[in-house]
Amino acid sequence: MKDCLFCKIVAGEIPARIVYEDEQVVAFEDVNPQAPEHLLVIPRRHIVSLADAEPEDAALLGHIQCVIAELARARGCAEPGFRVVNNCNADGGQEVGHIHYHVLAGRKMEWPPG
Ligand code: AMP
Ligand code: ZN
Repeated sequence: MKDCLFCKIVAGEIPARIVYEDEQVVAFEDVNPQAPEHLLVIPRRHIVSLADAEPEDAALLGHIQCVIAELARARGCAEPGFRVVNNCNADGGQEVGHIHYHVLAGRKMEWPPG
């Protein structure tokens, strides 16, 4: 989608430190990391937020979770643990309107979130 920051990363129009990509998904380092390891995992296809997910998106969203698990294992984050965050819409703290999953690791996470 035009004027979408993450669509531009998918298209290669904006540089990103990409750590994984396949035909459905791209994962890259967050430019403002909130933990020693902070990745963003996004679908190539523009979906605004999790609130817009439809039944036909089930396989894609499931695939994203499997990619997250694979990345966590490959990067040594699985056994110590990690956190997956989806900020959805305004009250959820979403700033970029292209669905994305934060993967945070490398430190002990706190609960509850702010
Ligand atoms: P959210 O608040 O959930 O929408 O998160 C958006 C995330 O995108 C933030 O953690 C930003 O640091 C991150 N971000 C914004 N621009 C870029 C970029 N060009 N490359 C990588 N991460 C970005
Ligand atoms: Zn987009």
